Amino acid sequence: MAYKIPFVREMDFAYGKVQQVSPLIRRVVANNPGPFTFKGTGVYIVGKGDLALIDPGPDAPEHIDVLMRAIGSERLTHIFVTHFHMDHSPAARPLAERTGAKIHASAIALKHDPCDVVRLEAGDDTGFTPDVVLHDGDRFAGPGWTIEALTTPGHTSHHMAYALIEENALFPGDHIMGWSTTIIGPPDGDMSQYLASLEKVRERDYDVLWPTHGPPIREPRPFIQAYLDHRLEREAQVLAQLRSGKRRIKDMVGEMYADVDQRLHPAACHSVLAHVLRLLELGRVACEGPPCVDNEYWLKR
Ligand SMILES: [Zn+2]
Repeated sequence: MAYKIPFVREMDFAYGKVQQVSPLIRRVVANNPGPFTFKGTGVYIVGKGDLALIDPGPDAPEHIDVLMRAIGSERLTHIFVTHFHMDHSPAARPLAERTGAKIHASAIALKHDPCDVVRLEAGDDTGFTPDVVLHDGDRFAGPGWTIEALTTPGHTSHHMAYALIEENALFPGDHIMGWSTTIIGPPDGDMSQYLASLEKVRERDYDVLWPTHGPPIREPRPFIQAYLDHRLEREAQVLAQLRSGKRRIKDMVGEMYADVDQRLHPAACHSVLAHVLRLLELGRVACEGPPCVDNEYWLKR
């Protein structure tokens, strides 16, 4: 790969422990490590006294007990959810019931999949409903903290990131992860939206990003630029594969992702599909029938 993404993977933490990671932020890592979640879901607790919490994580009793202990005698008032995947949102309702906090997230609008593929990531939390539906730029405050909601579609169509104004920090959820590239799984994931959301976050010049999975990103601008360059290079690779006569995504992935863990190849197929859908949208590629992973694609002349 010509573009090197400056991945960050060193992470100092222990399951079941609350860690003060900045003046206003504490982190708890859920014990749900895996190929998509890295060490597990990083749950962030913001403030002192009256608290906000970002992405409560999986609905596992022992994990929720850890969160309740972390909250202790303080008061949880706001739960913010970045998106409705099983490793992010299911603990929201049980936690809200135990604390009285309100759940904040964007409105659900899952796109129907014309290809009926089995979900490859952690899966959708289809039972999720927020108490408060958010829009871009909505702000919420507690003692000493202000959270701003930022629409960041791409990983999913409803993805929200949350800025902590006092620390010029952003909780980007799965939009930007330090340890790995994020998954853009169509039809809910959208490559063009993802690239636009990367540019949007880059232009805000945050001092630090606190992703749900993995350690913080301390130099967001070059990091985000590397992600943009990486995706545009992938797009060029897809075009080169098509130019060489390959029509099936599976064949392209074998060559393009030779250096990637085989377990992630089915996910890579969806990532390439996301690129192909963008090229369809841009009018550079054609296919017959619904644009699915197993379909054939070719360059338009
Ligand atoms: Zn996700």
